[in-house]
This record gives sequence, C-alpha cells and structure tokens, in this order.
Amino acid sequence: MDDQQRQPYAFSFETGDGQNKKLLGGKGANLCEMTQIGLNVPPGFVVTTQACLDFLENDQLPEGLADEINAQLTALEEKTGKGFGDPNSPLLLSVRSGSALSMPGMMDTILNLGLNQETLQGLIQQTGDERFSYDAYRRFIQLFGKVALGVPDEAFDKPFEEIKRREGVKADVGLSAENLKEASERFLEAVREHTGRAFPEDVKEGLTLAVKAVFRSWMGKRAIDYRREFKITPDMANGTAVNIMTMVFGNMGNDCATGVGFTRNPGTGENLMYGEYLVNAQGEDVVAGIRTPKPVQDMATEWPDMYQQLEGLRNRLETHYREVQDFEYTIEKGTLYCLQTRNGKMNAVATVRTSVEMANDGLLSREEALLRVDPELLEQLLHPMLDPDHDGVHVAVGLPASPGAASGKCVFDADRAELLGNAGAKVILVREETKPEDIHGFFASQGILTSRGGKTSHAAVVARGMGKPCVAGAEGIEVNTENRQARVGDHVLIEGDVITIDGGNGKVYLGEIETVPPEFSDDLRTLLGWADEAARIKVLANTDTPDGAVTAADYGAMGIGLCRTERMFNAPDRLPLVVDMILANTTEERQAALDRLLPVQRQDFEGLFKAMGDRPVTIRLLDPPIHEFLPTERQLEQELAHLRQLRGTIEGMRDLVGATKLMGDPEKVAAAEKIPLPADGVELIDEAIAKKQLMLDKVRELFEINPMLGHRGVRLGITYPEIYAMQIQAVIEAAAICQSSGQHVKPEIMVPQVCTAQELMKVRELVAPLQQRVASETGTDVNFSFGTMIEVVRACMRAGQLAQVAEFFSFGTNDLTQAAFSFSREDAENKFLPFYNENRILQDNPFEVLDVKGVGRLIKTAVKDGRDQREGMKIGICGEQGGHPTTIAFCHEVGLSYVSCSGPRIPVARLAAANAKLRAEEAAAVKLRTEEAA
Ligand code: ADP
Ligand code: MG
Ligand code: MG
Repeated sequence: MDDQQRQPYAFSFETGDGQNKKLLGGKGANLCEMTQIGLNVPPGFVVTTQACLDFLENDQLPEGLADEINAQLTALEEKTGKGFGDPNSPLLLSVRSGSALSMPGMMDTILNLGLNQETLQGLIQQTGDERFSYDAYRRFIQLFGKVALGVPDEAFDKPFEEIKRREGVKADVGLSAENLKEASERFLEAVREHTGRAFPEDVKEGLTLAVKAVFRSWMGKRAIDYRREFKITPDMANGTAVNIMTMVFGNMGNDCATGVGFTRNPGTGENLMYGEYLVNAQGEDVVAGIRTPKPVQDMATEWPDMYQQLEGLRNRLETHYREVQDFEYTIEKGTLYCLQTRNGKMNAVATVRTSVEMANDGLLSREEALLRVDPELLEQLLHPMLDPDHDGVHVAVGLPASPGAASGKCVFDADRAELLGNAGAKVILVREETKPEDIHGFFASQGILTSRGGKTSHAAVVARGMGKPCVAGAEGIEVNTENRQARVGDHVLIEGDVITIDGGNGKVYLGEIETVPPEFSDDLRTLLGWADEAARIKVLANTDTPDGAVTAADYGAMGIGLCRTERMFNAPDRLPLVVDMILANTTEERQAALDRLLPVQRQDFEGLFKAMGDRPVTIRLLDPPIHEFLPTERQLEQELAHLRQLRGTIEGMRDLVGATKLMGDPEKVAAAEKIPLPADGVELIDEAIAKKQLMLDKVRELFEINPMLGHRGVRLGITYPEIYAMQIQAVIEAAAICQSSGQHVKPEIMVPQVCTAQELMKVRELVAPLQQRVASETGTDVNFSFGTMIEVVRACMRAGQLAQVAEFFSFGTNDLTQAAFSFSREDAENKFLPFYNENRILQDNPFEVLDVKGVGRLIKTAVKDGRDQREGMKIGICGEQGGHPTTIAFCHEVGLSYVSCSGPRIPVARLAAANAKLRAEEAAAVKLRTEEAA
C-alpha cells in the first residue's frame, strides 16, 4: 500500500477513535474514549491491530511503525515532563495487549518498562524511596523476562522464595530495600543464564521487544485455542493492539491504592458500586491474592473523600457508556486514575434488574433496555441457579448444554446412578459420553456431566428434554469408568465425591454449592410487560393439561397454540377407555367406548378454557397412530406366555390332589388339599388371556411398516369419523358450559397431518350438526374457528386451497422438518446429526433451530398463498423451534401472527419477539438512511 494512504499505526489517547474496537482493541478504544470525555487516564497511545497483522505477515515490524512510536514517545515525554531512559526524570511505561474481544490467554502486561541500572538511580532520587524503586525494578525484570524473553517463572520464583525464607518473611511487603535489591540482581542473573545474553539496558530496545512479544502472543497456542473454542472469527477480532501508557503507582505509600470494580453489583444487579481495593499496592497484587483486598464499601468510611471521587468516576462511566462498567483504577498519592473500562458481564438476574432500573432512571429507553438482554439468558431464571454470592472456583468448563444448576455425588455409570438415586441420594451422572441405554441413569440423576460431545450430543438432547441440568464436552475431565473415578486437573474424583454443575454456563465445581430456586421476579415481569407492548408477534403455549395451562398463563402465555389431545389419554384412568375404543370391532362398540371418553375430554377442555379466560385455546384432534396406546407385540406375547404358564400351574395343582388320592395315603391327600387354590383362578386367567389375545390380534392388525407416515392424524379422523366427532363435541360442549357461566372463550379446532383440502372438508362436515345440536340442547351458540396444521410438504404447496376451508394455519415444524429433510428426528439426533454438526455439514440441529433456508421457504410459500386466499389469515408455528430466538426473528420477518412453545420457553420467546421487532425496525431505519444518502 502507498505510504500516504496508509492509516497511522499509532494513535494517542487524545486522537484514537473510541468506537473503533477492531482497529484499537477494546481496551485501547476505551482508553481513548475515556481520555476524550475528560476522565483522568494516564497519558499514552495505542499501536493498532493492523500493525500487528502486518508484523505477523512478514515477521518484522512494518515500515514506518518505529518512527510513529518514536513520535508518540516524544509527545508523551512532553506531556509528562519526563524522559524515556532519562536518568534524571525517567518516564516509565506499561505495555498492555488488547484485541477487539476480551480474550484471556493473550499476553500478560509488562509494568515499569523504562527501568535500567541508570534510570533506577533516577527513580530513587526522584521518589526518595529506595524500597519502592527496587520493588518496581524487580517486578519489571520478572515480567519482561517472562513475557518478552520467555524465561520460565521458576527461574524467578526460586531465588525469591529463597530470600523470603532466609529473611523469615511470608509476604513480599516484609522484604527490605536491601532484600529487593538482591532479588533484582539475582533476577538479572537468571535472565542471563536462560537467554545467554545480558538483560537489555537500552530502554528503546526493551520497548521494541515488548511490542513484538505482544504481537506474537496473538498467534500463541493459548490464544488460538481460545478463539477456536469460542468461535471467534477474524471478522470479530483480528490481531491485537498494544497499549503503551505512562505508569502510575498505587504502591508509593498509604495515600496510594489500586482496585477493580463494577458500577453495579454483577450478581444481583443492585445499584451500588461493587468491587475491591488494596492500599499501597500495584494492580497485579489484587489478582495474585498475595494480600486480601477490602470491599470497596469500606473506602466510604475509611477514606470518604476518595470514595466520593470514585463514585464520581462511576457515575461518569455509566452516564457515558449507558451500560454497567467493569473498571480498573489506581490512586497515586491521592490522585485517582482510571486504567481500563469495559461493559460488565452479569448473570441473568443482574442483567434483568439493571435493565429495568436503568430504563426507569431514564439512562436507557425501554427499547434499549429490552435489546440489552439476550433472550436465552432468561431461561436461566426459570431453573435453579447457583447462589450468586457463592465463592466456588470452577475446576472445569464444558458447554452449557441444558440450563439449571445441581449438586450431587458423582457416579460413573447409569446402573449405579439408578441404584443410588433410587435409594434417595442426589447424584450427578458423569460419563465420557452417554448412549440411549443410559437413559435410566438420567431419570435417577440431578444432572449430567460429560467430557465429550456437543450441544446436540445425546446427553445434551435428552437432558434438555427432561429439563435437567447438563454440562457437555467438559474436556478438562478424564473419566475412567472402570475404576469409577475421574481426573480433573490435579484432583481425582471417586464415586460419591460431591460436585456441582451449572448447565447455564458450563462450569463444574468441586463440592456442594448452594442453589437458589427459580423466581419469576417483579423485574422480570416488568421487562416482559414492556416486551409484550413492543412485540408484534404473539406468544402462545404448547400445553395439554389444565395444570399446564395455569403455569403457562403465569409465564405470560397469550393463549394455547397447541393442545395435544392424545396426551390427555395417557392417564391410568383413561387408558382402558381408549383401549376399548381401539379394540372395538364395530362402529357401535366404538361409539360405546367413545361415549365414556366424552365427559373426560369435556372436563379437560373446560379446565383449559378456565385457565386461559378469553385467550384462544387451540385444540388439535387426535394425531398419533392409535397403536401407540397399545403395548408392543413383543410385550403382549410375553404377557400371554406368562398367563398361560400360570394357568398351567393352577391346573397342575388340581392334578396333584387327584394324584395323591390314588396313593391311598389320607395324610398326603390332606397335605395336597392344604395348598391354597385361588378360587375362580382359572376363569379369571382365561378372561385375562382372552383380553390380551384380543389386544395382540389388534396390534398385529394395526401393524404398520412406517407408522409415522401411516394411519394417523386426519387419516384416522376420516376412516373413524366417530373419534373426531366425539372430540369436537367435547370442545363445543365445554365451551357452552363456560359461556353459560358468563366466561368468554375462544376455542380453535385444529386438524393434524392434512395434505389436501378434501380431507379438511370431510372433517368440517362433522362440525355443523354438532354445533346445532349443542345449541338446541343448551341454548348456547358456540363460536370457534376451524383450522389446520401445516406439517406436510404438500400442504405447503396447496396452502391456497387449504385456506378456502381453514380459518387459520399452524406450522407443525417438527414433522415438517422431518418431511423436508427426510430425517427421522430420533434417528438423526442419536446417530448422525452430531457428526453433521461437528463437521459443519449442517450448521445447526434443524429440530432445535428452524431451517430457514429450506423449511423456511416452504413456510413463506404457504403464508403467501394462504393469505392471498384469506386476507389477514391467522398463521402461527407450534413446533419446538418456536421458542428459539432466531426462529422467532424469522417468524416475525415472514409476518406470522404467533409462535407457540413450551412453558419455560415463553419468557424467552416474549423477549425474543420484542427484540425481533426492534431489530427489524433498526435495520429498516439504517436502510432508509443509506438510500437517502445515495
Ligand atoms: P488484564 O487485561 O490482564 O487485566 P491489564 O493490561 O489491564 O491486563 O493490566 C493488568 C494490571 O496492570 C492493571 O489492572 C493495572 O493494575 C496494572 N497496570 C496496567 N497499566 C498500568 C499503568 N499505566 N499504571 C499502573 N498500573 C497499570
Ligand atoms: Mg485489566
Ligand atoms: Mg405433527
């Protein structure tokens, strides 16, 4: 590139663009920003990420960089009145890395650069403090030696420990100036030994080496691994900047200090400064844990005027960034300097609370407050969480595969989990990975931890389905099932050791950590209330029982989008009725069974209507193949064999009595007669055998090669119209009962698996006579709408015709996805989908995140054709993906009326619906602006 066109490689804090984190790194951009709004930041400059990339390309400093650094240095010298390498008044610098995203594993910070034998004397003269000066010097040699010259830690730790032991002191502060002088001499010696040359005395050479070391750390193994792990692409962060700034000293006496803080409490969200500080210390001491820092609130009483200043800093930061800040500061001889700020990372509770409070205080608009919260975060609030004040330190991190936190004894196989779990112990199942045959272990465990596999691994999928916490793919853990133990770093876990997992962030802890139960806080209610006002798309619930409806209403469901009536049939008091219905050989027999089911269904529907008030309740008519209500052929064959054996046994006992009579020994006859024979035993068994035989015959008759594509859904309703008629009657009667007690109801009847309008018309024909009959019997006219699921590819293609009959559509995206991909969900998730995801053949699991590119196109077509036919038609989605924010954004974009999802996803969906709308508006505004400008 031509030199004149090239952007500068270095910017002073006064001139750098505080918005340009890609170029200046997060730390650098914020140092510029803070300087420019007038906060007290030690003077300095930023070397850009572009310089880093250019360096890495040729493995040498790019042309012009050295000159720019020199020019910046000269300016710094003018600003501070000190000289870099000047023995009379030495300028000391810190050299800090920082890329666009904060990234542990990058280079450590070098402090006190600019010291050498000569400037050290200058520092002593200037400060009059020998001890302080030697302390600064030995810290510099150690950090520079390690970071820029690659000398191992032990080379410094060993002599330092020796001196401390000899002097009989535990903490560094106990060492004298003389001791520290000795330490620095021995450190210089250590460097010479390891590098084969003397420690660089030339301060400019030192700076160049430090800059190169920071650049190279971008390609260090730790940094590369981190970027891979967290999928940080060059688009997000490319190269590291280098921040070079004047040192300030928190360790020059008791009017000095250093600290880190949050502008609000990141665990609770409370609007109170939070953090810790250390008097007479340098930054690294806080982190190193050499001395115990004090809570910042202590400063309010111990150093009130300084606390005031710190409060001032906090308020300036928040009003400027309009976000909770995580900041670092140092106090040198009573003057406060801010050394760093960035947006604070908070848990879900704190994020929600701060959003609501910042909006109420006018710091943010409601829209900003909504956009600030990641909808997925809310799911954490609906599961048990770790006590936000816990001080546990995690020992491993895996993927947050299923939210919630749990503690328990580790067990290493499913059978042990079941054994201990059923005996009442709380256990965590720890496996390398899980398989379908481990399922009984899941039921017995509080949570699941695996060392391999991703978010669509078996463990993750099953745990999510069960609502249990799961951490998957925690690679730091080595599981040895045979020995019933696992290794985590230096720790060996044996069966029975207690661990805690947090499925919300993937962290694993040793020992038990208190959990707090989920709580639907007032703050969350407020935020979600704002979301509902902002959103266009409605959020409904998938729920099948009156109890579920009550919970869903509490989560804020605006109705029921999917009630699967077959789920109502599984209760033990209902199953026999359903079985009778299935076994019926004639229409009359079937009608008799249905007559007994009718009141049961009606009662359930009444419960749903009551829970939902005047909100819509969408009831899907029977969907699954009916043999799902019967045991399997194998099970029935086994039961029959057992019954026949039992019958044989009883007959054998009768034969025994007869046989003893032939023996001519009255005592033996008496003994044989004493064996109790069940009265009517044989007859009862015969009856049972007959029933089971009937069921077996039916199961064989109903056998289908491919039941999911077989006789189910509307196909059943058409061949056995009396089944659907009973269900429709139950809906209408339940609605009539509610209406006559003065309640408004909005029933919606939905037909599954439809592929042609003819099917829908057939079912529709059942409706009118039932409606009339109920009206004349009860005097109540029931209004309801009649619609269809769209879950068959053909239905998408014939949506215009279907819309002539259906008043609403609901996309059943589970089946529609199976049909579009020709994947059976269970087989896909258990066999090949994880492999597909890991190898990037498919980006996501289409059963979790709607496949916008394929299934989405089918949906778009159906929406368009449906609404062309029936203007403003109500159209929603009720597949599991409906609770996922990216799916919701798509649904918003294609103009769906609602999404319907399971209870705990409702809050997530409400916020996602609002954010989808706000983002779409934002994008539209940007587009308009660029068009106007063009
Ligand atoms: P990290 O990214 O690991 O937090 P930093 O670059 O923030 O690394 O540096 C770590 C610590 O070094 C800071 O918290 C601060 O206490 C100290 N530090 C950095 N620059 C200076 C400086 N110019 N003056 C005094 N202390 C500094
Ligand atoms: Mg820092
Ligand atoms: Mg379906």
